[in-house]
Amino acid sequence: MLVDIHVHTMVSSPCSQIDPLNLVDYAARMGLDAVCVTEHEEMEGAEVARDLGLRRGFRVFRGVEVYTEFGDMLVFGLYRPRFPWKMEFSELIREVRSAGGAIIPAHPCRSDRGFFERLGDEKAGYLLGNVDALEVLNGGNTPEANRLAMAVAEKYGLPQVGGSDAHLLVQVGRCVTLFEREFDTEEELVEEIRAGRCRPFYAHQLPELGRAGAWRPAARGSGGGGVVPD
Ligand SMILES: [Zn+2]
Ligand SMILES: [Zn+2]
Repeated sequence: MLVDIHVHTMVSSPCSQIDPLNLVDYAARMGLDAVCVTEHEEMEGAEVARDLGLRRGFRVFRGVEVYTEFGDMLVFGLYRPRFPWKMEFSELIREVRSAGGAIIPAHPCRSDRGFFERLGDEKAGYLLGNVDALEVLNGGNTPEANRLAMAVAEKYGLPQVGGSDAHLLVQVGRCVTLFEREFDTEEELVEEIRAGRCRPFYAHQLPELGRAGAWRPAARGSGGGGVVPD
């Protein structure tokens, strides 16, 4: 099951030009099985997209992207209308754990809003010991930043996910997460990520993502991630 786990829409992210209705149609046409809408600090856009998806028979999972002192965090399974900007990581973790959710550092090695290059071993250990996965393929990152993130995930034995971080429709699906099994609920999304039953891919590695015409189909690579996009 192919899921783009990181998409912004114009409903709650002023930086995005994606209309949620177009998102649902485009994602279905290009061969994705689901998308996660993860607006900055707000849940409304995800709610709107999920309702549209329900009407059109396309899965949209709700998430949010919350800025903390350790950079941006993708959060699933924790529902509140709004989150503070630069939320304390320890407070966010407390809420995620009591809700039974998942927390994933977004684009952890990107130089702006990233965290890893600024942390010493002790802080990095604290952070990475408290998260459920790493977004090791982010569509807005350089290949080098993604490679660094993948090395961190491997070093700490963390599950790896990929998301487009799309702010334009044509960016949807440029990085995705392939889940081992089909599921329909946000609870299962959290469960599958936490269990690591998923792998990240660039779109061009997946021939099934050619249908919308935005990506050239290519032969599937031998492994998840780590392949430089052309
Ligand atoms: Zn971000
Ligand atoms: Zn984002």
